[in-house]
Amino acid sequence: MNFELTEEERLIKNMTRVFANEVIIPQIDESYETKEFPLGIFQQMADLGLMGLKYPEEYGGSGASNMAYITAMEEIARGDCGVGLTWGVHQTLGSVSIIKFGTEQQKEKYLPKMAAGEWLGAFGLSEANAGSDNQGMECKAELQDDGTWKVNGTKMFISNTGTPLSFGGIFLFVTGKTPSGKKEFTSFIVDKDTPGYSIGTKFKKMGFDWGDTREQIFEDCILSDEQRLGPRGNGFKQIMDTLDAARIGYAANSLGMAVRCYDEALKYGNERKQFGQTINSFQVTSFKLANMATKIELARLMVQKAAWMRDNNIPHTKEAAMAKYYASKICMEVASEAVQIHGGYGFSEEYPVCRYFRYGKMMEIGEGTNEINQIVISRHLGIAGL
Ligand SMILES: Cc1cc2nc3c(=O)[nH]c(=O)nc-3n(C[C@H](O)[C@H](O)[C@H](O)COP(=O)(O)OP(=O)(O)OC[C@H]3O[C@@H](n4cnc5c(N)ncnc54)[C@H](O)[C@@H]3O)c2cc1C
Repeated sequence: MNFELTEEERLIKNMTRVFANEVIIPQIDESYETKEFPLGIFQQMADLGLMGLKYPEEYGGSGASNMAYITAMEEIARGDCGVGLTWGVHQTLGSVSIIKFGTEQQKEKYLPKMAAGEWLGAFGLSEANAGSDNQGMECKAELQDDGTWKVNGTKMFISNTGTPLSFGGIFLFVTGKTPSGKKEFTSFIVDKDTPGYSIGTKFKKMGFDWGDTREQIFEDCILSDEQRLGPRGNGFKQIMDTLDAARIGYAANSLGMAVRCYDEALKYGNERKQFGQTINSFQVTSFKLANMATKIELARLMVQKAAWMRDNNIPHTKEAAMAKYYASKICMEVASEAVQIHGGYGFSEEYPVCRYFRYGKMMEIGEGTNEINQIVISRHLGIAGL
């Protein structure tokens, strides 16, 4: 295992570090105030080629490695957790299935615009009664006599479909039953202007206030068979592979958030004086920082290992789940300690740790809750899960 960055990966790291410091951090507060999507930030990411980072070169992307992706994600999420999440969906959940399973026609239609940052990827799996339990999915696509599919049902909590860059997204529907009597799932790409498809209003959330999370409503929505993504009944298999990629990115997002919280706490603790000395000179605070730094180091190694395995085509479902579980858990712990070191000021919106603490909770819920990731890990350890 060699986690040393290549020359290209080092350049991407430096570029995203500067971009986070000079563009994301100074500009993002406005979006939290207005709750508007930070279009300018994403356009600047497109100008730098970041929107196409993981997209294949033949469709206008950079074809970068997973190692490059997690390195960039750590910096982008350090700049802002919500930019990290939005960008992460675009790089993994919203695109991997098109890249791997799409027809040539689908690739040519979607990938160049997505890689150029003109269109933003989205992915719809969750429903009101089907979050962790995918078998509970009810949103149905029925094959019609004329070969089209009629979709009815509602998806819940779907990111990125109502922004100025949204084109629709990849959705998973129930298309029948498997020979063993389980539900059969098939993926489709749905364009936003398809009759019968509409989106709800933006959810008000605990954090990530400008983030675009909505219901997706399908009412007798007719899709042509050309919108089907991969073979009928393959939807679940596709999602499992995509989730591995997404979990590694989500872990890197959590890591970047933890790094920002550590940096802010270190800076604040070096400046804030009580009892005539800086609070970092109290041993209890220095131990807190030492613990935070140790957790970050371990999380980074786990994220790098999972990315390295994916880059080298080594099965990595367990490592992706472990990285996601651990990095999101320490993200919440580090955010909490960072608020503690800031005292009352950490509870105020004046300091970014306040926002990171609220949003840190989301990292334990998305891409499979931490309990679901523990089930995945136990199964791979040979311990009976669900
Ligand atoms: C801001 C935001 C953005 C999102 N974006 C997307 C998106 O773009 N696309 C998408 O498809 N979804 C998205 N989601 C949905 C997200 O993936 C789900 O919220 C998540 O999978 C959990 O599902 P749930 O909320 O229904 O919780 P539930 O599945 O109802 O879980 C509730 C609790 O029960 C626990 N639990 C459930 N089953 C078990 C079990 N077998 N053993 C032990 N514990 C269990 C869970 O761990 C959790 O603690 C988003 C959610 C949010 C909040």
